[in-house]
Order: sequence, then C-alpha cells, then structure tokens
Amino acid sequence: KYQSLGYSRVLEIHKEHLSPVVTAFFQKPLLLHQGHMEWLFDAEGNRYLDFFSGIVTVSVGHCHPTVNAAAQKQLGRLWHTSAIFFHAPIHEYAEKLAALLPEPLKVIFLVNSGSEANDLAMLMARAHSNNIDIISFRGAYHGCSPYTLGLTNVGTYKMELPGGIGCQSTMCPDVFRGPWGGSHCRDSPVQTIRKCSCAPDCCQAKDQYIEQFKDTLSTSVANSIAGFFAEPIQGVNGVVQYPKGFLKEAFELVRARGGVCIADEVQTGFGRLGSHFWGFQTHDVLPDIVTMAKGIGNGFPMAAVVTTPEIAKSLAKCLQHFNTFGGSPLACAVGSAVLEVIKEENLQENSQEVGTYMLLKFAKLQDEFEIVGDVRGKGLMIGIEMVQDKTFRIAPPMCITKLEADFAVEVFRSALTQHMERRAK
Ligand code: PMP
Repeated sequence: KYQSLGYSRVLEIHKEHLSPVVTAFFQKPLLLHQGHMEWLFDAEGNRYLDFFSGIVTVSVGHCHPTVNAAAQKQLGRLWHTSAIFFHAPIHEYAEKLAALLPEPLKVIFLVNSGSEANDLAMLMARAHSNNIDIISFRGAYHGCSPYTLGLTNVGTYKMELPGGIGCQSTMCPDVFRGPWGGSHCRDSPVQTIRKCSCAPDCCQAKDQYIEQFKDTLSTSVANSIAGFFAEPIQGVNGVVQYPKGFLKEAFELVRARGGVCIADEVQTGFGRLGSHFWGFQTHDVLPDIVTMAKGIGNGFPMAAVVTTPEIAKSLAKCLQHFNTFGGSPLACAVGSAVLEVIKEENLQENSQEVGTYMLLKFAKLQDEFEIVGDVRGKGLMIGIEMVQDKTFRIAPPMCITKLEADFAVEVFRSALTQHMERRAK
C-alpha cells in the first residue's frame, strides 16, 4: 500500500489544475500507482489486468526490466544532445529500426509523438509531390495537433474551428457498418468460423468502396494528390478493418495522381497484429512513408517517420527541419531495448497465438449475446462491437498469457450477462 494524496485531494487538484477532459470521460478514473508487465496497481494495492495498455502504447509490458535497465544505464551517461551532434544510441537505433522495414524505406526521422510524426509526414508528402490535397478515411485518428486534426475524422475530436486546409475525408471501407457488407472479406482469424454473409462475389464490397474512393479523388485540386493516410486497422474508430485488397488498389489510384501513400502504424506496428511486424504488410502493400509512435517506446515519449531516400531528400530541399528532443540518447536507448525485447521474448508470436486464441473465444460470445454485433481484429488488436453504437477495444501488452485471456473473456461474459439481466428487468 502506498501513501498517496488520497482520492478526494487528487480530484480537487485535477479539477483545478489539469485538463477537464479526463473527468468528463469517466465518473471515477482509476488512481494508478505502479505497473508491472501486464499488471497495474492502484494506491490501495488493488491490482488490475491491463487490457488496453495505456491506449495501445505499452507494447512489451509496464516497467519491463530490460527496458528499465537500458533507460537507467543511459540516464547515467547522457540524456540529451541537440540533433546537431552525433551520439551512438541514435545510430545504433536507426540501423536496427531500418532493418525491420523493407527497402527502400530506410531514412528515419525521430520525433516525440504520433501527432508530430504525422505532421511531418504531411509536410513531406506535400514537399515531395508539390501537391496540396491529403486524403484520409472517415473514422481515422491521426493526431490532435492543428495540422493532423484535418486528417482525424472522429467527430468527438473535431473542434468548432476551421482547420485542415487541403484535407479531404473519404468513406471508410467499414465492412460491418457500411452499406455493402463484406465482413467476411477482412483479414481476421474470426473469418475462419464465420460464414460469408454477402453473396455472391467476395470482392464486391471492395469494388464499391473503390468507386467511392475514386469519387473523392476526382474532387481533388487539378486531379492531383499530395498523399493518402491510412491506419492498417483503424484504432480509435473501434478496430475497423477494410476488405482485403482495398488498400492495394487505393495506393495505385493515389500514386497515379502523383500522391504518396502513408501507413500510420502508431497502433498497429511492432508486432501487435501477430502475423506481421507492420500492419501494412497484412495488406500486401509498400507505403512511401510509415509513421510510428506509442508501442515504439513502450510508454516513453518517442515516435518516428520512416521514408525513402528520395522523399527524405525533397524535405531537405524545401526547409531545414529540426526537432530538439526527437531521437535523444535516452529515447534511442529505450527504443533499442524495446526492439530487443520484442525479438527475445517472441512477442509478435505471442500476439499471434494469444490474440487468435482470444479472438475466437470472443467470437463465440457473438452467438451467446445478441448485443455483440461484431468481433474483429488481428493479433492483440481486438474490437467487439456492441450493437448500440458502442465498441469495446482490447489491446493488452503483448506479454499476456492464455490464462489471462481466459480470465478477460470470462469477465466480459459476466459483465454482458449482468447487463442483459438488468435490461430484462
Ligand atoms: N495515429 C494513431 C493511429 C493514433 O492512434 C494516435 C493516438 N491515439 C496518433 C496517431 C497520435 O498519437 P499521439 O497521441 O502520440 O500524438
């Protein structure tokens, strides 16, 4: 047990000095004190199994000993140099990260958050293409900075302010909610036990969405595009998956209009999807720019943009890009340790194994409870859509076990049972 300020005092301080957003979201947010791997502890000593990883951020486990040791070692050596000097951790990290991406994606820009990474990717796309228009899906979340708010199309994040000049939204190929069905066409283990609900041609839904996409492209300035942003699976929107083959065709259409294709791997990267290290690989596409954050640092604030030498050069041609903290020795030491742990502890494989196991168990709840409308996802990125316009997102640290997955499914089942009983009364 930890002697903290106490809940009521914390609430007072929060209301007076901190963002009103959190208290508007939850009646009583947890007061957390400590974390260890997939476990969190509050100040009273109660423990919680973390099935959301600080919003899909803690990739290898809270306070993972290898990552902590690497951070501590670097803390005692050198925290910071400005980007105008060399230091070994950044070079070691750049080489390791580049080795995980296919050619020609090998030039790395280190920044501090997902929004910053996407800001930079927008700048690169425009500098490289000499075009303005950038397209993203409805339901997309790419950040909350003034620039990226133009790409984020989740209503709750939109401000009553003008923004997003040159940003266009296009229909999200959401095969569950969309008008053309096609939920059997997505890449999820759940499809192995679900029958095809829309006949006769599995690719019909994809073709309809592609027609919509072409329609959006046709309204761009001078029929030219700077870039197209896509999350390989939409995170904030509720783990929304697209029909197979959609991104591949969409990328070709964007490139034919001079645009570059950007994969936002902020939630999907670093092995979480199990079958592949990067989400774009599950769509069999090669982006021109990849942005990453969250899981890259296991909770440490760091992010990256990876692109081709050609696109990187066009940025240098236009301006001097500078970032005080991006790629600090401390961040790079943490990033290297995270990559080491993912590999040494086979966490991508664990995501695949435990994620698939858990997804199939959750899918059974769909037969038991009519309010479970859809179960979807891949690896340890799972969405359960309750058919009253609510989606439950599950994305635990990648170190969880099958036993913990069983526990989570049972807790969920018990909550649904209680909910249905209350409704029946
Ligand atoms: N892209 C995606 C897919 C995200 O989920 C988020 C954060 N939820 C961001 C970008 C923005 O990241 P950050 O909060 O680090 O700015």
